[in-house]
Amino acid sequence: MSAIRFNRRVVRYFLIAFFVVLFLYVLMTGGGGNSKSSTSAIKKKPWMTTGKLGNFEPKEIIEREGPGEGGHAHHLKPNQENDAAASLSAYGMNMACSDEISLDRTIPDLRMDECKYWNYPEDLPRASVVLVFHNEGWSTLMRTVHSVINRTPPQFLEEVLLVDDFSDKENLKGKLETYIKKFNGKVRLIRNPERQGLIRTRVRGAEEARGEVVIFLDAHCEVGTNWIPPLLAPIYYNRTTMTVPVIDGIDHDHFEYRPVYQAGQHFRGIFEWGMLYKENELPDKEVQRRSFNSMPYDSPTHAGGLFAINRNYFLQIGAYDPGLLVWGGENFELSFKIWQCGGSIQWVPCSRVGHVYRSFMPYTFGKLAEKKKGPLITINYKRVIEVWFDDKFKEYFYTREPLARYLDMGDISEQLALKDRLQCKSFQWFMDNVAYDMREKFPELPPNVHWGEMINKATKECIDTMGHAAPTVMGMSPCHGWGNNQEDISDDKLVRLNAKGQLGVGERCIDADRQGIKLVFCPLGSVEGPWHYDEGDKTLMHKETRKCVALHPQSNNLSLMPCDPINTYQQWVFKEIPSPWH
Ligand code: UDP
Ligand code: MN
Repeated sequence: MSAIRFNRRVVRYFLIAFFVVLFLYVLMTGGGGNSKSSTSAIKKKPWMTTGKLGNFEPKEIIEREGPGEGGHAHHLKPNQENDAAASLSAYGMNMACSDEISLDRTIPDLRMDECKYWNYPEDLPRASVVLVFHNEGWSTLMRTVHSVINRTPPQFLEEVLLVDDFSDKENLKGKLETYIKKFNGKVRLIRNPERQGLIRTRVRGAEEARGEVVIFLDAHCEVGTNWIPPLLAPIYYNRTTMTVPVIDGIDHDHFEYRPVYQAGQHFRGIFEWGMLYKENELPDKEVQRRSFNSMPYDSPTHAGGLFAINRNYFLQIGAYDPGLLVWGGENFELSFKIWQCGGSIQWVPCSRVGHVYRSFMPYTFGKLAEKKKGPLITINYKRVIEVWFDDKFKEYFYTREPLARYLDMGDISEQLALKDRLQCKSFQWFMDNVAYDMREKFPELPPNVHWGEMINKATKECIDTMGHAAPTVMGMSPCHGWGNNQEDISDDKLVRLNAKGQLGVGERCIDADRQGIKLVFCPLGSVEGPWHYDEGDKTLMHKETRKCVALHPQSNNLSLMPCDPINTYQQWVFKEIPSPWH
C-alpha cells in the first residue's frame, strides 16, 4: 500500500515539475523554440513601417502620356467603328482599341494607402507566372506579359510561362515565338498538341513550370504596383496557403482600368447552391482577426482565374480533377479541396491585378463538348459536389438544379480515393468553420414540392422569364415538351415550387405585385415564401393578398386576380421534365 502511495506521489511531483519547466521554456522562447524546423522562428512575417515606404515599393512613380495611359479609357475615332465591332465579336473585347494602347502603359495604383508601408522578407520564393491562352488577342496577351515583366522584381520572377491551348490564330504562331526572344529567356512558350480546355491547360502549366510558386493569370490582365511580394509572403510562410489578388476591372470596350469594389471594402468568395460564384462582404469575425485592414484574410472560395500557389503543393493535392472539362467549377473544386484537406485560401488586398471581363465567351468548347450529353459546366459542378459535399448538401444542389440528377458525371472514384488519402474533413466542417457566412446568405434549401414547366390549363402555354434578367415581368410562351434535343432545354421555363412556398427559376424567385407576376432577386436568408399551391384546385395563391395567379385571356398577361378555382385561366400544373439525356 504505502509503496504504491509513495510511487504515486513521486510521479505526481515529477509531472508537476515537468510541466512547470515546460511552461517556463515556452514562455521564454515565445512558443517558437529554437529548433531549425520551426517555421515561425526563422521565417519572418511581413512588417509595417508606417510613414516609411516598404522595401519593395517602386522608388519613383512613372508617368506617361498616350492612349490609355494612367488606365484611362481610350476612345477610337468614328471611322474605326467597323474594326472595333469586328474585333469585339471575334474576341469579346475591342482589340482595335487595345492595339492603340502601349503594351507598357501605366495603370493607377488603387491599393489602400497602408499597402505602401508593408515590408516583405528578401528571400521569398520565386514564381512562374503561368498564362494559358486559346485564341487570345495579341496586344492584350502581350500587355499581360509586359506588365508582369515591368512590375515584378526580377529576383522573384522565375519565368512567364505561356501555355498555348491549341490556338489557330496566325499571329500566335511564328510571330509570337520571335517576339518573346527579346525577353532573354524570361518568357517561355509551350503548346498543347490538341485543345485541352483551360482547366487541363493550367495543370500542364504547373507541371512544366520551374518556379517554386505558380501564379496563374488570364491572358488579358495587367498587374498592379508591387503586386507580387504580398502574394508570395503567405505562401513562403505556409506552403499550404493559396493566395488571391484583388481583381480590378478593365473595360472590354475602351480599356479603362477601374476598381470593382469600393475603396477599403473587402469581399470574399462564396457560392449559391446552384454553384454560381458569389461574393460576400468580409464578416466582422475576419475583420477583427487582423491588426491592419490591408492584411490578407481567409476566403472560402475564389473566382478562378487569378491565384498563387506552391507548385509542389498544388500537384500533391492532385491539381485540378482531370475529369473536369474545359471551363467551370474548377475554382470550387480547388477551394473545397484546399480547405477540407488542411490548407487555406487568403485574399490579399495589397496585391491588385486588372482583368478584362469580356462581353461574351468568344470560343466554343469544340470537340471537347461533343462526347458529353448535357451542359458541360453543370456536369463539372456535379462532379465537384459529388466528391466534396456531404449527402445533405448534395440535396441542395439537386434541389436548385433538378436536371443535374440525370447528368453523367463520369467516374469519380479516383477523386474520392484522393480525398480519403489526404484525410480531408467533411463539408459540414467547411461550412461551420470557413464558409459560415453561407448560413445567412444562402441557407439550406427547402425541398421542391414540384418542379418543371408550369403550364396554364386554359392555353396549355408555360410561364417563362422570356430570357430577361430580374427584375422583370414573367411572360407566357409555348411549352417545350422537353424533347431529345439538348439545345432545347431552356432554364427560363424550369420552375421550382418548394416546401416553404417559394417559387424559383434558376437563382431567381417569382413574386407578385400590382403590376403583375415578376421575376425578382430572392430575399436573402431563410424566409417563408409568398405562395400557396392548392393541389386540388391547382390554383397558386399569393398568401399576402389572398389573390391567385391568373392569365388574362385576351392580353396573355399575368396578374393577381380574386381566386376563382373553376376558372382554367387560374389553374396551373407542373410537368416534370423527363430525363432529357437518356
Ligand atoms: N482558355 C484556354 N482554353 C480554353 C478556354 C480558355 O486556355 O479552352 C484560357 C483563356 O485564353 C484565358 C483563360 O483560359 O486566358 C480563362 O478563360 P476566360 O478568360 O475565357 O475565362 P473568364 O475570364 O471568362 O472566366
Ligand atoms: Mn478572363
